[in-house]
Amino acid sequence: MIDVLNPADGTLVGQVEHHSEAQVRAAIDRTCAAFPAWSRTLARERSALLRAWFDLVSADKTAFAELMCRENGKCMSEAFGEIDYGLGFVEWYAEEAKRVYGDTIPTHAKDAAVIVTKEPVGPVASITPWNFPFMMITRKVATALAAGCTILLKPAEETPLTAYKLLEYARRAGIPEGVFEMVTGDPVQIGKLITDDPRIRKISFTGSTAVGKLLAAQCAGTLKKMTMELGGNAPFIVFDDADLDEAAKALVSAKLRNSGQVCISPNRVYVQASIHDAFVQRVKALVEAIPVDQGLQDRFVVGPLINRAAIDKVGKLVDDSRERGAKAVLGGHAHAKGGLFYAPTILVDVADDMPIASTEIFGPVFPIYRFSTEAEVIARSNDSEYGLVAYAFTRDLGRSFRLSRNIEAGMVILNSGSVGTASVPFGGVKQSDYGREGSHHGIEEYVHVKYTLMAGLA
Ligand code: NAP
Repeated sequence: MIDVLNPADGTLVGQVEHHSEAQVRAAIDRTCAAFPAWSRTLARERSALLRAWFDLVSADKTAFAELMCRENGKCMSEAFGEIDYGLGFVEWYAEEAKRVYGDTIPTHAKDAAVIVTKEPVGPVASITPWNFPFMMITRKVATALAAGCTILLKPAEETPLTAYKLLEYARRAGIPEGVFEMVTGDPVQIGKLITDDPRIRKISFTGSTAVGKLLAAQCAGTLKKMTMELGGNAPFIVFDDADLDEAAKALVSAKLRNSGQVCISPNRVYVQASIHDAFVQRVKALVEAIPVDQGLQDRFVVGPLINRAAIDKVGKLVDDSRERGAKAVLGGHAHAKGGLFYAPTILVDVADDMPIASTEIFGPVFPIYRFSTEAEVIARSNDSEYGLVAYAFTRDLGRSFRLSRNIEAGMVILNSGSVGTASVPFGGVKQSDYGREGSHHGIEEYVHVKYTLMAGLA
């Protein structure tokens, strides 16, 4: 069995099975065996099952939220927010299932017709991280099922209980065995078994860039279609014409969500020199007012980090930055509560050549950099192997368009700190991602295009 521990206090939340190789192989077999029948169901039948899943889970949000707080450490308001976000994908793809349209193309040959259809790619396998234990599951499963694919999912070892609860509700909704399967166990072994199996036609992975590259290499042997949602190093740029109060609020809320353990968390805060001090003061006042505590309560709190490795990594990055000349205007150390709690930290005088500038922090740390000109800050923002999201606050319309055009990221968010919803294409460029999740683009990742020429019609 695998123990699932509460990161807030180390207590046992539950256990899940550590599946053997034979059990994983059997789950792959079930996923593949279910594909032919599932792929031939009517779109409205798949839609109805997804809708039934949506309704059952919607009626039990509190139970899901409490479980997520206990296994992940996030607070109740965040858990409810994630549930609504995650259920949005089930609702969206229940509808989108009915709209996977093909084309007819004017014929190039006499007495012939050209038809283009879209077909589900086949059985899919998916691996997800711990930071969004609910939404990561629904975002992948709903899209795959809507397209007519069956899916085998391996959730993260730290947060499998929410995933299994979603599976249980899917079964109750009538989504059959084989169509949606789940395994837990040795990630390396599971990864190898699913990537080596030629019957699995697609891998959808969310997690670190390092593991994403490994899986991409493993998939080369069977040339699987892949969707990769990987790491980020998001710039958050504040120009001197911005509404500083709004920018500070957006930054704090985006940064402290899930204690900073989010791929789209602002990771490099660039503030124009003339407003630097005023902006830092605003951010500091907001952060100081937010309590640090375990999450099972109504108010917003900054919770613990997920495990010891996470807190060690954040501690080292902050210590290293301070040794190299950065100053902590708030925090700069583990929180007095001990355990896995790290004090929200604001660092100023951070320089581009410090390791923190090129590392995904994944903790409640705001590294603040000064900049002078638009061209300079765009170049510095783009100086990263990642390209997931970029945020900027400015009231200048021309500049907004220039940022949208010139920033190397899959998502550019202007005058807001809020990115996701089911109806938009989530994803990045460079070493952050390929493929998109959400919107009508998301379902395209689970279909292939088939061209049929019907000649001899005369
Ligand atoms: P991770 O270490 O890459 O783990 C993600 C998943 O991969 C887990 O289920 C893990 O299993 C599994 N895994 C680990 N090693 C594997 C291997 N060799 N073969 C197959 N599977 C393997 O990432 P994480 O620390 O959980 O999550 C944080 C990362 O995810 C960050 O980089 C973050 O930016 C990224 N992320 C990206 C997005 C996005 O949409 N772009 C969203 C959220 C998170 P175990 O749990 O069993 O070890």
